[in-house]
Amino acid sequence: MAFSTDDKEFICSVCGEKSVHTVLTEAEPPSGVPDLDLRPAGAPRKYMKYQVMECPNCGYCNSTLDIPFYPEKEYLSSDEYKSCSGIHTPNTDASRLIKKALALTGNHSYKDAVKSWLSAAWLLDDDCDINNAAECRRSAVKIIDGHPAAFKGDNNFKVLMADLLRRSGNFDRVVREFEGVAFRSQLMTAIAFFEVQLAAQGDDAAHRADEVPGVSAK
Ligand SMILES: [Zn+2]
Repeated sequence: MAFSTDDKEFICSVCGEKSVHTVLTEAEPPSGVPDLDLRPAGAPRKYMKYQVMECPNCGYCNSTLDIPFYPEKEYLSSDEYKSCSGIHTPNTDASRLIKKALALTGNHSYKDAVKSWLSAAWLLDDDCDINNAAECRRSAVKIIDGHPAAFKGDNNFKVLMADLLRRSGNFDRVVREFEGVAFRSQLMTAIAFFEVQLAAQGDDAAHRADEVPGVSAK
């Protein structure tokens, strides 16, 4: 069993239209070591498209369409939303994840918005669409920078920030902000140290958590 799905009807919270979407009902757990940005290894990489559904009528994208959208619904007709904030890709799953990130930002769900930008970046990584993947990561960085109160004290996002910056080529900022930084978690300190080393070498590639010196993740 790799995974199983089911088709389910949802009513769009924005326009009231009914539509049928495939949902994941059972999933195989990750196998192997995650990347530094916690991208899971193994089977979950195939499930990304089930993280988002799109209303065929109004274009609303979210994890499920019954989740309310709080801003004016006209936003879903805006150029920013329809153009995926200017990120053009033939990958419809990535486009939907970008729209979900924009909708979540509108809902002030900033942490989930960052995760959706990151998921879109992962799909674009798989397409070898380096520029758009970097642009998604820059958008995630902008959310974290723009809403410090939402991320205050959350070291998971602090460490993720190092990877988002490095993978989008902002090496100077990684070194500036993370050199010598110690976290309460030794693992996080080791990851930050490794991110600084990679950034200093101008390395913007994906790396696995077990590459961190002193870490043998399983
Ligand atoms: Zn709708």
